[in-house]
Amino acid sequence: MHPFAYTRVSDTREALDASRRGGRYIAGGTTLVDLMRETVERPETLVDISSLPLRGVDATEGGGLRIGALVRMAEAAAHPKVRALYPVISQALELSASAQLRNMATIGGNIMQRTRCTYFRDVTAACNKRDPGSGCAALHGFNRTHAILGTSDHCVATHPSDVAVAFAALEARVHLVGPHGERHLPFRDFLLLPGSTPQREQAVQPDELITAVEIPAHPRPLKSGYLKVRDRQSYEFALTSAAVALHVRGGVIREAKVAAGGVGTVPWVLPAVERHLIGERPSAALWEAAAEKAADGSRPLEHNGFKVELLKRTVERQLRIVGGTK
Ligand code: SF4
Repeated sequence: MHPFAYTRVSDTREALDASRRGGRYIAGGTTLVDLMRETVERPETLVDISSLPLRGVDATEGGGLRIGALVRMAEAAAHPKVRALYPVISQALELSASAQLRNMATIGGNIMQRTRCTYFRDVTAACNKRDPGSGCAALHGFNRTHAILGTSDHCVATHPSDVAVAFAALEARVHLVGPHGERHLPFRDFLLLPGSTPQREQAVQPDELITAVEIPAHPRPLKSGYLKVRDRQSYEFALTSAAVALHVRGGVIREAKVAAGGVGTVPWVLPAVERHLIGERPSAALWEAAAEKAADGSRPLEHNGFKVELLKRTVERQLRIVGGTK
């Protein structure tokens, strides 16, 4: 491991100052420490922010929820308000990683985590995300788990987070603080497509700090849930996943939020599926027809063509589960 300095900060101003001097934030450390051991990441200074007052899950004035950046994944998943209002978030968190990791990892760290592309973590392989301009070993390598949506000639890695898929579906906002004050970003703009700069993954400036993720209010009742398809039933990343939230009133779907994971370079929102659902009455035929649009625009690689059909079936099944028809 590359030698590094360690400092602990107790307020936001101190954290921002340390970051401006080149420090790298650490909280749960469940991704960053691994990457440091593998020398993929070599920060000179770690700034431990785990004592900052960025905890708590609170109702917002408009009827949504604000989840502090330092809330642990397990804590957010078990929180009664999250479970009651947005089961899709609880389920996505509970299907992530292992119990030990969920007890350590934070919400802010989760959405900042880096890809699980094996070539990214192998410092002997060409990887534009780790070493810009070096190439992409996955493009013509073993790319079974890689993305079919949002890819570029520079990078085809999937975004690994499950809860990020739920956040994208629910149109969450990321709250940030920096030297010029506070701002918030729509979650759908927070994670960046790789384009020609895959090394840049989030729309966060180096001197900013994530303070919270806010989920806006949605019309009630809102039924929601998360389905994850993977090679084994625990401690595994998604091959495909679907976050679905539906508001049905008078037997008609009034609002539909649908996003997919495991298939895109960022959590993939499915507006064509949503449009197909809104204004319709739930039925098995509707789920099937809507899910048929889930893979629109996909570009499979040599080894991951199976994801096209798997994605459609994952979305259809989750629409059926949440929508409540056989
Ligand atoms: Fe690197 Fe992206 Fe290519 Fe993986 S897919 S090797 S992360 S550039």
